[in-house]
Amino acid sequence: MNLSELGEFGLIDTIRARVASAPGVHRGIGDDAAELEIPVGHRLLTSTDLLLENIHFSFAWTSAEDLGHKAVAVNLSDIAAMGGTPRFLYIGLACPAATEVGQLDAFVTGALAEAGAHGVTLVGGDTCRSPGPWIISVTIEGTAPAGVAVGRDGARPGDAVLVSGTLGDSALALALWQRGATPEAFLAARHCRPEPRIALGRELAQAGLATAMIDLSDGLAADLGHILEASGVGAEVQSAALPLSPAFRAHLAQRPELFDLALAGGEDYELICTVPVERVAAAQAIAARVGVPLTVIGAITFSEPGLQLRVGNGAVRPLRRSGYEHFGRGTGETPVA
Ligand code: ADP
Ligand code: MG
Repeated sequence: MNLSELGEFGLIDTIRARVASAPGVHRGIGDDAAELEIPVGHRLLTSTDLLLENIHFSFAWTSAEDLGHKAVAVNLSDIAAMGGTPRFLYIGLACPAATEVGQLDAFVTGALAEAGAHGVTLVGGDTCRSPGPWIISVTIEGTAPAGVAVGRDGARPGDAVLVSGTLGDSALALALWQRGATPEAFLAARHCRPEPRIALGRELAQAGLATAMIDLSDGLAADLGHILEASGVGAEVQSAALPLSPAFRAHLAQRPELFDLALAGGEDYELICTVPVERVAAAQAIAARVGVPLTVIGAITFSEPGLQLRVGNGAVRPLRRSGYEHFGRGTGETPVA
């Protein structure tokens, strides 16, 4: 059966039937608007992401179930980067009428599994026919106690720059697929099943340790660049300090130019945060408790505006703020996810 046979309301009914009631949800899917409750003294954090087939993802290497996971995970990652708790999810979906219901079911399965794994409830969305590619819009609402959320603008000289997990794995998987090669399972999973660092972001924020925080969607240079710009500071990053996975290092040993993927490859969905130097040990203790590596890669410097990279031989060079830019030159020909 395809979507034109099931129909818009048939699809909404099947989605609705798969969503359980949850605390705080007075009305979810099925009315004109969701009616929700947030804890007293908390603030609402909201974020939206658009995913377009062949711009953000390709069914050539992403299954519909992985896509459901990823669409939700990247959206939750934005709440993680604010130090909040994600709660309520909305999915807008435009698909061709010929889309098989089985493919939509797989997408919904992935999306609901990812949401459920993080205590998030699907409370609404919108559904329509697309004349061409899939278009997915995901919106997340999260909460944080007043004064706890962490922005991009608080980095100060004397802060260390830290990053969670490892860098470049997702971009390496994509580069391998685009060359017709098959990445090993670890790299493929890093691309298709990113893990939003919710507990880490929330704990760092609640402990008041992070002065600025962002999630890594466009690459280290671009995303750390956003913190530097918003905070009006410069940073120096040590190339030798960048955390790399064993799988990434194995490819790097063959092709040294792949190092650029650790600097500018997108879609890691790790957290970059700045932490006063004297509080780094406390931040790393929290990371150890939640089970995510948190590595010092550099420092916020006084005098140098922009981002500098200190390479192995001690030389310092400015780092281009490369990364994916939708309206930039050269966009349009290669999907990034
Ligand atoms: P409206 O005409 O007011 O936009 P709809 O008929 O589009 O209402 O939606 C009916 C209900 O189904 C609403 O609660 C809406 O939030 C929900 N809904 C529609 N599409 C989706 C979807 N893709 N995922 C989750 N909920 C959806
Ligand atoms: Mg509608």
